[in-house]
Amino acid sequence: MRNVAVLGATGSIGTSALDVIARHPQRFRASVLTAHRASEALAVLCERFVPDLAIIADTALEADLRARLQRAGLATRVASGEAALAEAASSSLCDTVVAAIVGAAGLASTLAAARAGKRLLLANKEAIVMAGPLLLAALRAGGGELLPIDSEHNALFQALPGAAATRAESLQANGVHRLILTASGGPFRGRRRADLGAITPEQAVAHPNWRMGRKISVDSATLMNKGLEVIEAHFLFDAAPDCIEVVVHPQSIVHSLVEYADGSVLAQLGNPDMRTALAYGLAWPERIDAGVKRLDLVALAQLDFQAPDLDTFRCLGLAYAALHRGGTAPTVLNAANEVAVAAFLDGQLPFLAISEIIEACLDAIPAEPVENLTQLIQTDLTARATAQRMMRRLHC
Ligand code: NAD
Ligand code: MG
Repeated sequence: MRNVAVLGATGSIGTSALDVIARHPQRFRASVLTAHRASEALAVLCERFVPDLAIIADTALEADLRARLQRAGLATRVASGEAALAEAASSSLCDTVVAAIVGAAGLASTLAAARAGKRLLLANKEAIVMAGPLLLAALRAGGGELLPIDSEHNALFQALPGAAATRAESLQANGVHRLILTASGGPFRGRRRADLGAITPEQAVAHPNWRMGRKISVDSATLMNKGLEVIEAHFLFDAAPDCIEVVVHPQSIVHSLVEYADGSVLAQLGNPDMRTALAYGLAWPERIDAGVKRLDLVALAQLDFQAPDLDTFRCLGLAYAALHRGGTAPTVLNAANEVAVAAFLDGQLPFLAISEIIEACLDAIPAEPVENLTQLIQTDLTARATAQRMMRRLHC
């Protein structure tokens, strides 16, 4: 029986993880559930899954959550705050952690799970973009295992030989030439910059293939999501930036591909449903039912592939630039993007200005070699403050 902590249980990934867990009660138990502010939704999940511990990140809502669980007659313990998340992720309450908090807010708990040697199902891509070298060091020290949940990296993990998938051996030693990440192209695929001046948050979050949280939906619309994923692939598989390619594939059926020296290309396909990756990560190395609709190739009939439009979607090029620059540049990229996307969702920043703010931050803050967590947290704060300043200068 695996005891699973679902961090970010009320979100899109959290909901999918709990769906898979509920399908296999003899294999998995949700022992820790967490949310940011959605105490009512968290209480409903607690009634259904009866975890040992429920954590609400916003401490002001701890009393509210406790009252709800008491009214429901549950013995589930209640805690709050970021430190409680990290403590739970490394505690004996769980052996498996689904890291599904969005943004840098998930970094501390993701690192704690890695350090404690848990099986880490990593959805929180911002954590590895922000602190890749530290997360890898924590994993080595903890001796646990990382299963990528991002569908592209889950596909690569499946298409790579085991030793290369887990970084035990290099890609070169396994005859790998290229990692090819697929991108849906988002809701604005085919549009030019001139068409994107007046995009609203509601248009940007309307993704054609996936139902996701608002932040990652905007990232998909700007192609920053793919940029973050290029950096994620670099750290996960020790892949040189030039070996990671992006191809637009509007149907989101081929989740990514590995090209080998002999010309073979191995891909993982499936319907766009995150429960496949979550079931894979939870049961690995076994395969279990994920509740996902079977792929009907004849009904699909056609799969399309195109080059990404880097002129219109500048964020992808900025992510490659940050990766080439190395050191703390990805930390700056991530923080500036989080600030700009939040401002866009808040109606404070035009869609096209998101890439301008990120570029200005990358230019303003020199990259330094990554040393420790304190340094990265400071870099993240500096980049956030710089992004706020740039937004005031450029657009207010
Ligand atoms: P979401 O917005 O639907 O859910 C986020 C969850 O995190 C919620 O439970 C929320 O309560 C919690 N949370 C938000 N801010 C928090 C904070 N400051 N402190 C503590 N908890 C907080 O997001 P999502 O779409 O489920 O994405 C989660 C992560 O998974 C992101 O990093 C995203 O990039 C990644 N991911 C998502 C998908 C997808 O299909 N949704 C696919 C690949 C990767
Ligand atoms: Mg993805």
